[in-house]
Amino acid sequence: MNEEFMQNLFRIAEELSRAGWAEANAGNISVRLRPEEYPTDPAAGPWQPLAIAIPALAGEQFLVTAKGCQIRNVPHFPRRDCGVLELNGDGTAYRVVWGLEGTVPTSEFFAHLLSHAVRKEQSGGAERVILHTHPVTLVALCHVMELDSVKLTRLLWSMHPEGVALFPGGIAYLPFALSGSREISAMTCEAFQKFPMVLWEYHGVFASGRDLDHAFGMIQAAEKCANIYKAACELGGVTRTLRDEEIAAMASFLHLTPAPGILNLSGGANHAL
Ligand SMILES: [Zn+2]
Repeated sequence: MNEEFMQNLFRIAEELSRAGWAEANAGNISVRLRPEEYPTDPAAGPWQPLAIAIPALAGEQFLVTAKGCQIRNVPHFPRRDCGVLELNGDGTAYRVVWGLEGTVPTSEFFAHLLSHAVRKEQSGGAERVILHTHPVTLVALCHVMELDSVKLTRLLWSMHPEGVALFPGGIAYLPFALSGSREISAMTCEAFQKFPMVLWEYHGVFASGRDLDHAFGMIQAAEKCANIYKAACELGGVTRTLRDEEIAAMASFLHLTPAPGILNLSGGANHAL
């Protein structure tokens, strides 16, 4: 495997573990590889059919983490704890071409592939990484308030001016569903039509980014905003936040377009808190 690519993967795996977002076998990663990142020593296994054809990803190769693997172990056992899958020419089947020695792809593998198909189209091919992890404070927010995509994104953006700068696409909120189910895959794909990041209620985040650092950074920024909210609550409660006009000005200053439908710029109430 491409040494620089693998070192970057190992660094992000360690960061996820150190952040406390990947306990035990939690979390999974997939990367739609560039041709220069394809395995240099491929060993193709048998073709296996996909439950649903994904022609948008035909012929592509993906690095995926293994089912049940502990993210912190990926740097130490890369050929066991991750691997590379190749899709066939019409996107109806896949085979392992590197790694996954004695293991199988993450149970979220199909949700990852469907997510890649949506985000590849939405980003014009720029986004290549789907990262799933369990950031503590974002998950805790689900337990203390009723949320939806607008309320969650607006709350986070209002906590720090770099919120809208670092995840201008916002974050969708999905009601509880069983992980690994078709239902959560379908809801995540629908949310990814509009948002590059999704919070699964009581569970964790699915984020799509251009590369590993971009996906990790978006989650880190959203978690930072949630932590600022938590700290403000601990200091006696939130009484002041960035106003929607100030968030919009920040985005405009950086030539970013915030996710539509989040900010209320009509002069009404400033915040939904
Ligand atoms: Zn999870």
